[in-house]
Amino acid sequence: MTAPDLGRPPALAAAIRHELPGLRLLTDPVDREAYRLDETAYLHAGLPGLVALPTSAAEVAALVRLAAEHRVPVVPRGAGTGLSGGAAGIEGGLTIAMTGMNRVLEVDRDNLVVVTQPGVINADLKAAVAADGLFYPPDPASYEICSIGGNLGTNAGGLCCVKYGQTRDSVLSLEVVLADGSVIRTGGRNVKDVAGYALAHLFVGSQGTLGIITEATLRLRPAPPPRVTMLAFFAAVEDAGRAVAGIAAAGLMPVTLELMDRVTIAAVDDWQHLGLDREAAAMLMIESDMPGNAGGDELARAEEVCLGCAATSTVRAADTQEADWLRNARRLAYRALERLGNARMEDIGAPRARVPELIAAIERIGARHGVLIGTFGHAGDGNLHPSLVLDRDDASAEERMRAVCADLYQAALDLGGTVTGEHGIGASRREWLEPQRGRRAVEVMRSIKTALDPLGTLNPGRVL
Ligand SMILES: Cc1cc2nc3c(=O)[nH]c(=O)nc-3n(C[C@H](O)[C@H](O)[C@H](O)COP(=O)(O)OP(=O)(O)OC[C@H]3O[C@@H](n4cnc5c(N)ncnc54)[C@H](O)[C@@H]3O)c2cc1C
Repeated sequence: MTAPDLGRPPALAAAIRHELPGLRLLTDPVDREAYRLDETAYLHAGLPGLVALPTSAAEVAALVRLAAEHRVPVVPRGAGTGLSGGAAGIEGGLTIAMTGMNRVLEVDRDNLVVVTQPGVINADLKAAVAADGLFYPPDPASYEICSIGGNLGTNAGGLCCVKYGQTRDSVLSLEVVLADGSVIRTGGRNVKDVAGYALAHLFVGSQGTLGIITEATLRLRPAPPPRVTMLAFFAAVEDAGRAVAGIAAAGLMPVTLELMDRVTIAAVDDWQHLGLDREAAAMLMIESDMPGNAGGDELARAEEVCLGCAATSTVRAADTQEADWLRNARRLAYRALERLGNARMEDIGAPRARVPELIAAIERIGARHGVLIGTFGHAGDGNLHPSLVLDRDDASAEERMRAVCADLYQAALDLGGTVTGEHGIGASRREWLEPQRGRRAVEVMRSIKTALDPLGTLNPGRVL
C-alpha cells in the first residue's frame, strides 16, 4: 500500500524532533516493522517512515500539523488488532500509535460516565469502572488486547451488542485532533443533547480518516447481575439460524446470542477440551443478565424456541466459572481456526430474520469453492464471521480467498445485509463500499472527508 507523492520522513523527523524533543519517535526500520500490519495478515501493507508515540493531545496535534506541512500521510493506530487494515502502515507515512495515552482520567459515578484516553485497553477500562460497581458494555472478543481508541475508530461490536449496542451507543463526547492540528470537543456529559450535528457519532467508525480521538467520555451502566448461560446444539446450521430469528421474534433480549458451526466447535474443542458436542452442526451460546429469576426465565423461553427449531440438546453452565470458560471458548474461535491453516476472518451481516439464509449461503459458497469455512459470530445481531481456512502451502490462497470473499459480500448484499458488521471497510473492502451504499451516498462521504481533511493526509486509502 503506497500513497502517491508522499513521504518526506527525514525532513518531518527533523521538524518533529525540533518541536517535540521529548517525544518517543521510532526511526529504526526494525522498530517500524512492528507497525506495518495490524491483524489483517493477508494485506500487503507499507512500512511507516516514522512511528510516533505521543503522550498528550498537544503532541498529537503538533504531529498532525507537522505531517500536513510536510505532506506526509498519517495513520492513527491503537493496539493494532484491527481486521480491515485500518491501522496498517503506509510506505513512508507517519504512524501515530496511541498506546502511550493509556490513562483512565475520571470515573464519574454520579453521571454514570468515564473519561478515558484512547490507548486504554478495553478490558482495563472495564476493570477500572467495575471497581465502582459500574459496567462498560462494549466487549469485542479481542477485549483483552484492543484499545478504546481502536474500538471508537471501528465502532467495535462484540458479544453483548445484541442487548447493549455497538461502541457508538456508549459515546457521549470526544476530543478530536483534526487534520490541520486544531482540536475540537464534541458532546459533553449530558444524556440528552441535540445541539447541532452529532459530530461524535461521525468520528466513531471513521477509522482515523476524519480525525484522531485523544479523549472519550463514555456512558456507563450499573453493573448487571452475573449472567446465566446456556448452550443449545443443532443437527443443522439452518436450524440454529431459525432459532436466532425466533428468539428475536419472541421479543427476547439475551445479553449474548452467539453461534459456532461444526468446524469451529471442533477447532475450539481440540484446543480447549471443553467436551462440546462435536456431532452437532451448530451451537448457540445464549446468556441472560436479568436480575433474580428473570434470567432463568429468559433462558427457559429461549430454550423453548431452540427446541421448537429442532435443537438436539441444551445444557446450562453449572456456575459462573463454567460460564466464563464457555464464553472464553467462543472468544477463542478465530485463534482456534488459525491453528488449522492460513485463516481469514470475514464479517458479513444480514437482518436478523435472514440469518438462516445467510448461513445457507455461506455453506453453499464454501462448497462451491472447495474452501473450508468455519463460521461463528454474533448471530443475535445478524453478524457472522465466516472464516476461510486454507493450507499454509497453497500458492493460490490469496486469489481463492479473494474469490470466496467476493461471493460472501455479494450474498450478504443480496439479503439486504452488509459487507462488514463491525471490522470496518478499512483498506480491505473498499471496492465494496459503493455497491453497498450507492454512488451518491459515497459522494456525500467524500465531501465530508474533503471538508475535514482537504489535503487528504489522514489515513488515505482507507474507507473511501
Ligand atoms: C481474535 C480477534 C477477535 C476480534 N473480535 C472482535 C469483535 O468481537 N468485535 C469487533 O468489533 N472487533 C473484533 N476484532 C477486531 C479488532 O479487535 C477491533 O476492530 C478493535 O476495535 C481494534 O482496536 P485496536 O486498538 O486494535 O485498533 P487498531 O487496529 O489499531 O485500529 C483500528 C482502526 O481505528 C483507528 N484508530 C485507532 N485509534 C484511533 C484514534 N485514537 N482515533 C481515531 N482513529 C483511531 C485506526 O486508524 C484503524 O482504522 C477482533 C480481532 C481479533 C484479532
